[in-house]
Amino acid sequence: QTMLQKHEKDPHPDWKAGTPVPYAALCKTFSLIELTTKRLIIMEHCSRFLRQVMRLTPDDLLPTVLLMINKLAPDYAGIELGIGESLIMKAIGETTGRSLQVIKADQKEIGDLGLVAVKSRSTQPTMFKPKPLTVRGVHQGLMAIATVTGNGAQGRKVDGIKKLLSSSDSHLKEKVDINKDKGGPSEAKYIIRFLEGKLRLGLADRTVLVSLAQAVVAHEAEVKGKIPSTTDLENGESILKTVYSELPSYDVIIPAMLQHGIQNLREHCKLRPGVPLKPMLAKPTKAITEVLDRFEGQTFTCEYKYDGERAQIHYVAKDASQSSGVSSIFSRNSEDLSKKYPDVLAKLTTWVKEDTKSFVLDCETVAWDMLEKKVLPFQQLMTRKRKDVKTEDIKVKVCVFAFDLLYLNGEAVVEKSLRERRELLSTAFVPIEGEFAFATHMNGQELDEIQTFLDESVKASCEGLMVKMLDGKESGYEPSKRSRNWLKIKKDYLSGVGDSLDLVVLGAYYGKGKRTSVYGAFLLACYNASTDTYETVCNIGTGFSEQVLEDLYAQLSQITIARPKPFYSHSAGGQHQPDVWFEPKYVWEVKTADLTLSPRYKAGWKEGVDPAGEKGISLRFPRFIKIRDDKKPDEATSSRQVAEMYRKQESVTKSKGPSVDDDF
Ligand code: ATP
Repeated sequence: QTMLQKHEKDPHPDWKAGTPVPYAALCKTFSLIELTTKRLIIMEHCSRFLRQVMRLTPDDLLPTVLLMINKLAPDYAGIELGIGESLIMKAIGETTGRSLQVIKADQKEIGDLGLVAVKSRSTQPTMFKPKPLTVRGVHQGLMAIATVTGNGAQGRKVDGIKKLLSSSDSHLKEKVDINKDKGGPSEAKYIIRFLEGKLRLGLADRTVLVSLAQAVVAHEAEVKGKIPSTTDLENGESILKTVYSELPSYDVIIPAMLQHGIQNLREHCKLRPGVPLKPMLAKPTKAITEVLDRFEGQTFTCEYKYDGERAQIHYVAKDASQSSGVSSIFSRNSEDLSKKYPDVLAKLTTWVKEDTKSFVLDCETVAWDMLEKKVLPFQQLMTRKRKDVKTEDIKVKVCVFAFDLLYLNGEAVVEKSLRERRELLSTAFVPIEGEFAFATHMNGQELDEIQTFLDESVKASCEGLMVKMLDGKESGYEPSKRSRNWLKIKKDYLSGVGDSLDLVVLGAYYGKGKRTSVYGAFLLACYNASTDTYETVCNIGTGFSEQVLEDLYAQLSQITIARPKPFYSHSAGGQHQPDVWFEPKYVWEVKTADLTLSPRYKAGWKEGVDPAGEKGISLRFPRFIKIRDDKKPDEATSSRQVAEMYRKQESVTKSKGPSVDDDF
């Protein structure tokens, strides 16, 4: 407590009003957060610091928040650091004058590159004192590393890291003890962790958002000489949450909030074409009866669930005032897909009625058979190149199926009911065969009708149905939410566990027999968002063709690492260790027969499914379906979802045969 009070009163000796926020001050807060797992305390540290930034150096609020959420820019800006473990080790070695071999040996022993950097540094006396790091300087330095391109990019990235590392920790008088307090407030440690993409503070993005709201409300009250009430704090939080869900860009929100105050934020920051929002997601169901139970007494609607790629299409017509206009397609995780679908973008204006000047559509792009005039399987779509596609070279044509409208002619329509949005959609757009269509829907409420519609959807090469609330407030579009107001029924999970899972590949085992030159089986994990760790969930060796195994080997052998990352949660037993470990990079879709508890895996082990808190959940007879390159590792199926699936299954089938949690 005393350390905390002192830190609040005197966050850093060099930090005066108007001067750049010292990076050391932020790292101090990080280190306090790292020592606790209690969400409320984490939030308190976080908002306290943000409040200081507001008070002393509001210009640095944006880079501070970005460094807290381990991001350099909003997702749609497409800025990626693109740095693996080996590059980081090289930079640490070169900065501290230690050989790569020694660094590798340290990494093998310590297992945390951040701490390896601290250890390397503390054994090296500094000849002269470099200028201390600032939050904005670190942000700029990291940005420079991320945006290097062209010849010798790798080398220049290493140089960028070295520059940051050699200026770090110059203020620390004593040697850092890496075994004490998790290495303490070392700048080098947090720079390295930022580069690795995991700060491992237990500081979720959502916590930063709430802390920011609290800090701003408290600061605004303080300026007026008041103390904020609980209602003020709750209102501020709700405003910021809504605004962020419609306009997920701190780059836009923070300057607006500083200028206009949090109370007026909604007026200034609304959904706008050009800034993708996180899509609304659906909950899985296992039977039509489950859907009927959920929507009992309320009107719902069924739509075909097309099997393609989610596409959020943004458009603003060019005109005299906004000369450049907007014309973009974004993926499920806000990546810009405009270079993948130039053919679609070229046609946008032919889909609209004359007075449709701007819109945001939620759609699915699906491969289209021009001759037979029908939807093609998902695999066809995947053969399209992802980048630099030239319209004249395109072999796989796509048809866009629109199922929702979020913005029309200068106005967000997310709060309208689905029935109203659908009406607007049909009045503002014109279907064109094989290019643009409305998702097929049916408003029947009876089990038989739904069953027939489901069968038809399958005949039309769809994955099943989406069933959505049709009227009232609840049928509004809820960005970034997995909502009970959207349910999915997939054709092939009517008897299984309810849904396929999207899992991260953490490791692999060399093949046996025919498969000795490739990996024959893999260790997969789900993502625990609250601890920011990957929890192992199964080994998988089924569903791969020989060709796929070769391709996977080529891809994965590039990203091997010497030992598991400290944020991998796996069983320690030697015999269960994979032969090689990987950086957390690829997400695969996997099907399973059912779920079972196993001492060998860690998925959901803290979710209370095993009363003893030892066993995790694992997949029985998992089967590889496809690579999900539209998902990042932290968008994999979460531990909570796995636990939810397990619980649902338990309530259906109480007893089960002996567990078979191995697949090879
Ligand atoms: P997750 O596995 O995280 O739930 P997902 O991307 O695998 O997400 P599902 O939840 O299985 O997707 O299904 C929702 C997806 O189905 C949407 O993201 C969208 O891409 C697709 N889709 C196809 N048709 C529709 C439709 N009519 N309405 C909504 N989504 C649709």
